[in-house]
Amino acid sequence: MKSRSFFDASRRFAPRLLFVAVLCCSALLPRAHAQNTALDYNADTKAYEAYRTDMEGADQKIADEIKAHSELVKNLEYLSTQIGPRLTGSPQMQKASQWTLQRFQDYKLDAHLESTEVPHAFYRGDDAAEILAPVSRVIPIHSIGWGKATDGAVTGPVVFVDFKTLSEMDKPPSSWKGAILCLGGLPFGGTPSATPENAYDAVIPPPHGVPKAPAFNFRRFGKIIQNLIDSGAAVVLMDSGKPDGLFNMFSFGPYTPSAVPIALVTHSDYELLDRLCKAGAVTMKVNLKGTFSAGPVPAAITVAEIKGSKLPEERVIIGGHLDSWDLGQGSLDNGTGAMAVLEAARTLKALDWQPLRTITFILFTGEEEGGLGASLFMKNHAAEIPKMDAALIHDTGTGKVLSIALEGLYSTAPQMAQIYLPIQEVFDLQPLSTRFFGASDHVEFLVAGVPAYFCIQAPAHYGEAHHSQADTFDLVVPDEINQGAGVMAAWAWNVAQLPEPFPHHAPPKSGGPF
Ligand SMILES: [Zn+2]
Repeated sequence: MKSRSFFDASRRFAPRLLFVAVLCCSALLPRAHAQNTALDYNADTKAYEAYRTDMEGADQKIADEIKAHSELVKNLEYLSTQIGPRLTGSPQMQKASQWTLQRFQDYKLDAHLESTEVPHAFYRGDDAAEILAPVSRVIPIHSIGWGKATDGAVTGPVVFVDFKTLSEMDKPPSSWKGAILCLGGLPFGGTPSATPENAYDAVIPPPHGVPKAPAFNFRRFGKIIQNLIDSGAAVVLMDSGKPDGLFNMFSFGPYTPSAVPIALVTHSDYELLDRLCKAGAVTMKVNLKGTFSAGPVPAAITVAEIKGSKLPEERVIIGGHLDSWDLGQGSLDNGTGAMAVLEAARTLKALDWQPLRTITFILFTGEEEGGLGASLFMKNHAAEIPKMDAALIHDTGTGKVLSIALEGLYSTAPQMAQIYLPIQEVFDLQPLSTRFFGASDHVEFLVAGVPAYFCIQAPAHYGEAHHSQADTFDLVVPDEINQGAGVMAAWAWNVAQLPEPFPHHAPPKSGGPF
């Protein structure tokens, strides 16, 4: 019955698709990807009306297919429970790569892994910490990712240092030697920069997008870190910055052991240490036990595709990272996004439609440490970048998609409006968001000049779960993440069928907005 009803739908769409194909293959193609290409609505009003009507029908069928046959939650449960958290380069991540490859193939997609290596895998140890004086209290502690182990259990005085007040020319004071340094004020490990809660803070676009925070001074930071290394401190502690005893894992690193042992404590314990230090001398014992692989380990992205029928060399990309931090189960950051991409692939394949452009599904790795997987894809496919139409990333948990962020790409608003209106209608979205979010795998596409966007989602505990031990499967809301899979599939389909390709932008000289 399914394939028969699809056949009927295809025939209904066929004349319009043919018209779209003629449009693409004639006057518009030579301008493909020219910067600042604008849609000529007046000339092609009827074509765009037909496009929107067709996409609305197609997007509804996508929603119906997911409602009837979604395997997303089943897949996410397996990923979270049977494989678990997935640090880049870890055995679990390698298992997840193989498993997702198999799942794409189970759904009859062409799929493969693209592999690289990271210098070392990090194996978390059973870290321990205890305040010895003036009170006695065992506190939870976790090494940062790729954090060097301490030299056994180390005991020392607690010293508070604020990065913001340190000068790059400061020499490390002798009081740091052998100390347990509590380092505050660093722009790492705090609240995620892209929280859905503030998605609509700026609804009126400023002329050049929402400005980013002042640039971080890496030279100053490097000097201070060097001072920390030179100081002979026993261990550096940092504040997780979250309520309710939640950790907020991060790393500094290029997959190599940190120069000094660095660990996170909960915000409440960091505050406790601060109050104790203000009252007098404090002594602590810390034992960090992380270990590393002796040499490089494999890291892979999973890539699948449905080949385009008319413009196979043009590529529409939807993706999400499969890697995660390791304190929880990696369910909301980003098992949900990865499994939404897998479900979008299953859905489009089940509908058995032939897109005009190739639709590519990517499950990235190394996102948490800085975008290794997205960089790998761009490197492996550098020659194809001019034909990458656009990318959309899902990476903020289980909450329903509320909108799509333009990421400062105002020149693409005409195309996005055409694509977005049918999706908005079918999936009950709010207007397009004008925010710049950054902070996920779409950034590597943006810096290469490829239009790339980010799903804005309902909070649904993401702020708490993000990088913490509370990132667990029980928080998944099936209806909401299934809606996200529908939005991803519909967006991919609507871009794949668009009469004109997206305009690329000039790669920025330094970061976004674009
Ligand atoms: Zn993420």
